Parts: sequence; C-alpha cells; structure tokens
Amino acid sequence: MFVTRLSFFLGVALLGLSAVRGQETPAAPPAEAPKAVPVVAVPIQPAASPAATATAMAAAKPAATVEPRIVYNSVHVDGPYIAMTFDDGPHKTLTPKLLDLLAQRHIKVTFFVLGECVAENEDVLRRAAREGHEIANHSWSHPQLNRMADDAVRSQLRRTDDLIKSVTGKRPTLFRPPYGALNPRQQRWIHDEFGYSIILWDVDPLDWKEPGPAVVTRRILAETRAGSIVLSHDIHHGTIDAMPAALDQLADKGFKFVTVSELIGLATPVPPKPAPPPASPNEKKRSHAKTAPAAAAPNAPKPAATAPPRN
Ligand SMILES: [Zn+2]
Repeated sequence: MFVTRLSFFLGVALLGLSAVRGQETPAAPPAEAPKAVPVVAVPIQPAASPAATATAMAAAKPAATVEPRIVYNSVHVDGPYIAMTFDDGPHKTLTPKLLDLLAQRHIKVTFFVLGECVAENEDVLRRAAREGHEIANHSWSHPQLNRMADDAVRSQLRRTDDLIKSVTGKRPTLFRPPYGALNPRQQRWIHDEFGYSIILWDVDPLDWKEPGPAVVTRRILAETRAGSIVLSHDIHHGTIDAMPAALDQLADKGFKFVTVSELIGLATPVPPKPAPPPASPNEKKRSHAKTAPAAAAPNAPKPAATAPPRN
C-alpha cells in the first residue's frame, strides 16, 4: 500500500514534467481524464533582454536534440502522411464494420487494443492483423497506470503483449497508456523493458463523448496535419459512422494513411528553429498592436511596461 501511494505521489509530481520529446509536440489532451503535459517551447519575447534571450535559447536547444525519442505525439515528416489510430477494442461488431470501411479504401491503421477485449474477440484481432493493420498494446484493462506500482503495470503490459503475440503471431512494438497517463520514469523503463515506443496523439476529436459523427469528422479534418497521429475509439457507433466522411475528406485533402510504425519510419529531422520567430505577414497582422512599438522611433513613448502575461 505504501509503495502504491508513494508511486502515486511520485507519479503526480513527475507528470508535470512529462517529457514529450521533440519539437513538434502540440498539446495532447488525453482522451478521457487527466492531462498529458507536453513540453512547449517557451516563446522568446521580443522585449526580453539579450541576456534573457540567450538564456532562453540555451535552455530551448537541448530539448530538441539531446535524447533519442521514445514518446511521440506526432512525427515530423516530409510528406502528407498521417496515422489513424483506434483504441479500446477490438469490439465484436464495430471493429469489423470499421475493417470493412478501411478495406474498401485500402487504408491501413493502428489499433491500440485492450487485452481483455482481445480475449473476447480474438477473431476480430486476427482479421485486423491479417488485413495489414498494426496491432499495438493499450494495457489489459485500461487502468490509470501512473497510479500503479511497477509490477502491476508490468503485468498489464505483459499479459496483453503475450496475448497479441499468441493471436497474431507478432509482438507489438508500440504502447499507448490509457488516458496518456504515464510519468517519465515509467516511459523510460517501459521502453527499456518492452522495447516499446510510447505513442500519444496530436489530434483528439473527443469521440468518446459521443458528439455525433459530423462533429467527429469536422474536428478530425480541422486538426489533422502532415505527421499527425489521430486518436479515436472503435467502440463507439458515432466514431465508426464518422469514418467514411472523415477518411474520404482526408484523402481528398491529399493525406496518405500509414500505420504509426510506418509514420515513425518516415520521420525526418526537425529543422532548428530560427531564434527570432519569422514574421509572416499574417503574424504581423495578428500581433500588430504589440509589434508596432518596436518599429517606432527609439525615443517614442514606451508601451506600458507590461510583458504580455505568460501562460
Ligand atoms: Zn483508451
């Protein structure tokens, strides 16, 4: 009990540091409850002193380049590649329906499955694997792993890993923690012990709230970029009903569907960001009020000495 509690508090403390490595790490709001905390580059404010700017740059640099990446929200790619992912199945009837839609369109996706659902729907999983989709681990019973002792976490992952292997003949190489809830220490040991890449997401249509197929489609279309990892769940009718339009419109926009492992295989280096953010015409327009003083004469009255609030 003590150990469980200790690891819970550690987990809470460490979650704030949750290091989603790499630069292209937009917010990854978890599907269900707690927030996964992405690392967001601190923008360098034009008004900052040179010393402060240098410090900020020095602090920002290593984050982009140091450690090999084990956690992905999205992938930097040179091309219109995206990965659709479906969690919490396989479902007895909805997953086969989705598989039909995917087969008609020759689209491969990635399923993050629960061991307990695989146990009840082995045939469905076998079919998904046979049809070329990637099968990945999403724990046995969807607990919040950052509140659990290592042995319990290990058991959740191992049982599921073993069952996937026995049903499909292949061990998964990817893991997605339920709710995105995993602290950096857990990310590390799970990667080291299972060889998993930890897969989060950058597009979340919140389909589990059942907002209706049209809303799910619209959200996916609005948020998906090249390199995106799109989260949804093949256990909700509304999600499956959203897919024909979502998939067809993504294809119309030129996106190409790959599995998550294929997407990672297509990764290209993230170019270093130039120190002062490039001022595009849009940028200038948007921040007109703030940038205007900089262009004014040196002895012009200074704007109120208030840095914009940081959030
Ligand atoms: Zn889930």
